[in-house]
Amino acid sequence: MNAVPEAPRAPERGDAVLVAEGLTKHYPVRRGLFGHATVKALNNVSFALSRGKTLAVVGESGCGKSTLARQLTMIETPTSGRLVIEGEDVAGASRERIAQLRRHVQMVFQNPFASLNPRKTVEQTLGEPLAINSALSASERAGRIAHMMRTVGLRPEHAKRYPHMFSGGQRQRIAIARAMILDPRILVADEPVSALDVSIQAQILNLFMDLQEQFKTSYVFISHNLAVVEHIADDVMVMYFGGIAELGPKQTIFANPRHPYTRSLMSATPAIFESDRRIQIKLQGELPSPLNPPSGCTFHQRCPYAIEQCRIEEPRLREVDGRLVACHRAEEVGDADA
Ligand code: ADP
Ligand code: MG
Repeated sequence: MNAVPEAPRAPERGDAVLVAEGLTKHYPVRRGLFGHATVKALNNVSFALSRGKTLAVVGESGCGKSTLARQLTMIETPTSGRLVIEGEDVAGASRERIAQLRRHVQMVFQNPFASLNPRKTVEQTLGEPLAINSALSASERAGRIAHMMRTVGLRPEHAKRYPHMFSGGQRQRIAIARAMILDPRILVADEPVSALDVSIQAQILNLFMDLQEQFKTSYVFISHNLAVVEHIADDVMVMYFGGIAELGPKQTIFANPRHPYTRSLMSATPAIFESDRRIQIKLQGELPSPLNPPSGCTFHQRCPYAIEQCRIEEPRLREVDGRLVACHRAEEVGDADA
């Protein structure tokens, strides 16, 4: 179900801050003593991120979400494909330019315990990016840090505290403040609420949305949880086995998902679909091994809609009913259950 490069893109490119074209990441791995193999973690992923909007990336564990995040934040270099940030092709950029571009693409990780240095105070953690990337004086930096702490819901008088003195939710607020303090164009958040208590998750999601309104930051928001995605997304990209299964506006996808995998994810999210009378799809089996990908559609072994064609022919990402979907039977999937 991998996208083909010439596939249409949603949303439109015109106001895009980030464009991914056929992004692919393969990892060489060792097998046994002498064997080598390739893990195809990300395959031919294309999309455009609109200014000030949120693209939510959703899919089960192992489908390539974090690999995508590492390509978008330029932590890794893709095996193939293009990444264009603010109209600039990253592949053609010099080292210095990439270092500058990295400032504009910040990241928030899942685990605020692991992502914050335990030996640094909040003031040090937030002050470092300012010291490196701005010409602000020490007192101006202190002022900026206090303001940012207030903006994310922390008390500036706690600036000299260490991470262990904060709760999980507060720590994630520190990590968000660190990511936002240079006013990045793009924030890539990889499961930023998954490690938090459910009672805290909504607060942090609301913080993300408040910050976006205030700073007009564009988000790539990664989550395995569709309830979270429904809250925060403008566009939704459903990933399966390293590729795009379905991509389009949130309302379109939630109203009538046309990929069987999207349907199965929704069936497994009762909070959203309590009153839903659609046919429920139970996900059978597990994600196939990336060392041994299935033929044809990568979802066919688990798919209740699969026919002979699905075993043989890889579905192209194509436009159906206002979204992109990689399924031979997309037209029937939506309508049959509606
Ligand atoms: P997700 O974030 O959706 O859980 P990942 O991007 O972490 O998925 O992983 C996608 C696939 O790529 C998995 O099969 C994972 O084991 C594999 N993978 C990720 N990083 C590496 C790596 N550095 N070396 C080898 N395989 C990797
Ligand atoms: Mg991950």
